Amino acid sequence: MSENIPEKEITVKKNFIHQLIDEDLKEGKNDGRVHTRFPPEPNGYLHIGHAKSICLNFGTAQKYGGLTNLRFDDTNPSKEDTEYVDSIREDVKWLGFTWDDREYYASDYFDRLYVFAIQLIREGKAYVDDQNAEVISEQRGTPTRPGTASPFRNRSVEENIDLFTRMKDGDFNDGERVLRAKIDMASPNMHMRDPVLYRIMKVPHHRTGDKWCIYPMYDFAHGQCDYWEGITHSICTLEFEVHRPLYDWFIDQLKNSDYRPRQIEFARLNLTYTVMSKRLLLKLVKEGHVNGWDDPRMPTICGLRRRGYTPESIRNFADKIGVTKVDGTIDIAMLEHSIREDLNKRAQRVMGVINPLKVVITNYPAATTEEIDAINNPENPDAGTRKVPFTRELFIERDDFMENPPKKFFRLSPGVEVRLRYAYFVRCTDVVKDANGNITELHCTYDPASRGGNSPDGRKVKATLHWVSATDNVKAEVRLYDRLFTTEDPLADKDGNFLDYMNPDSLKTLPECYIEPFVKNARPKDSFQFERLGYFTIDYDSVPEHLIFNRTVPLKDTWAAIKDKE
Ligand code: ATP
Ligand code: MG
Repeated sequence: MSENIPEKEITVKKNFIHQLIDEDLKEGKNDGRVHTRFPPEPNGYLHIGHAKSICLNFGTAQKYGGLTNLRFDDTNPSKEDTEYVDSIREDVKWLGFTWDDREYYASDYFDRLYVFAIQLIREGKAYVDDQNAEVISEQRGTPTRPGTASPFRNRSVEENIDLFTRMKDGDFNDGERVLRAKIDMASPNMHMRDPVLYRIMKVPHHRTGDKWCIYPMYDFAHGQCDYWEGITHSICTLEFEVHRPLYDWFIDQLKNSDYRPRQIEFARLNLTYTVMSKRLLLKLVKEGHVNGWDDPRMPTICGLRRRGYTPESIRNFADKIGVTKVDGTIDIAMLEHSIREDLNKRAQRVMGVINPLKVVITNYPAATTEEIDAINNPENPDAGTRKVPFTRELFIERDDFMENPPKKFFRLSPGVEVRLRYAYFVRCTDVVKDANGNITELHCTYDPASRGGNSPDGRKVKATLHWVSATDNVKAEVRLYDRLFTTEDPLADKDGNFLDYMNPDSLKTLPECYIEPFVKNARPKDSFQFERLGYFTIDYDSVPEHLIFNRTVPLKDTWAAIKDKE
């Protein structure tokens, strides 16, 4: 992908769906229109899997100069809420897509769906069944055994109209009756064996209030909404492939011109080390296993946003993984790679010490502060340089020192000389400990001739350490995140509980970190690279008096390492 694309332009790799669209256009279908829709059910927050679908639907329409509708599939009021509607809107917008005034709801069509149901009854293609869900399911048979007809299948049109009207008027209780299509109880496709169209649910709806107590099934609503909106390509995930004959059957009953929406299925996105179903994500939130939908460990769009992911990185990821017909699982390292690639280009570099160990430069004057030049972003020469204060007392990373180092440890240890990034060569002369033998500080000497970190006489050091002044810095809280689960597929154990595989160390809070003064005015969503440690983004809860950084991603790119080996 070109690095020079303008921010707003969305690129989409050609995929099999585009080939199908090309064929449709060549055949002159639908007057050459391309119109897609993204149809979330407002029963949870969107996750990265939805992002794939969003990028595909909106990206495809853009590619063909077409349109995309945002349509809420709100046919099950018992699970839906306006909080979810609002979050979905925000997430789609944040990803960089617009739907103008084309925001629709399946509930906008409840009247028309009802009229359509009456039409089917009049045509002898639908009937009211008095049996309960269990009996209906039993009679439906199995893929190898045909179903048996309901004893109510051949009711008269008049009786059906009367019963269905009374269902709508609230004369019956939940589960007492359903409306079914009359198609084919022997069809090899189970979905064609007289599927349920309407069920009674005496639950107020977040948009229609108490108007309805019967609600259409998803299958009875979806294709018809597509049809009424003039959708040409109804892109959905593979599990709906077996629903397609039913989708088409409904359209056949509705259609009065050459136009018809075409359902096309693609493989849903699965990612390692996480779960991707709203039901399971809701459980994590409700039971307090995470701190809300936007917990930076969640695979939700709002979680990724809080963690520091950019819309560009998610769009690039969606494009790179491509679109196929085969279910698979993507390595989460690939998602991490995409944000690393993006932040590498744009993130300001700073030095921050997250596990501090004090260093006193004993031969450095006490009351002096030197301003040391540091490069803001080596990837972007225009980003320039900044000054970093260097003082007699500094912090380095505790991990960068070992009193008794093994052979391959090249960082600081007694008697060893290292470079402090951009500043000086220093040599460790003393290790100071408390009464319990814990190291409290190091004493070092510096070589004034090595200013800028340059060797004065050609002598070499084996390590360059980052550092922060102990007297001129910004104290901050840093949150380190690890994978939410300890296993690639937390659902692999069918009899197990995915919660048993949660990573107890997925969040580590470091309350006492020191960052160079440059970050003083950082605001939520600002991202930085802490040299050697990774990319960090300011959390929403951060205030200038108490800065909080989320580690978006460490620097080590395991995905690039995998690719290099290939
Ligand atoms: P979940 O199983 O997570 O609840 P869903 O399919 O029930 O997801 P919807 O709100 O119905 O969620 O989905 C809206 C759109 O997003 C649908 O077109 C659906 O096919 C698509 N979608 C959902 N999950 C994924 C995924 N993991 N990968 C790609 N597309 C997805
Ligand atoms: Mg769904």
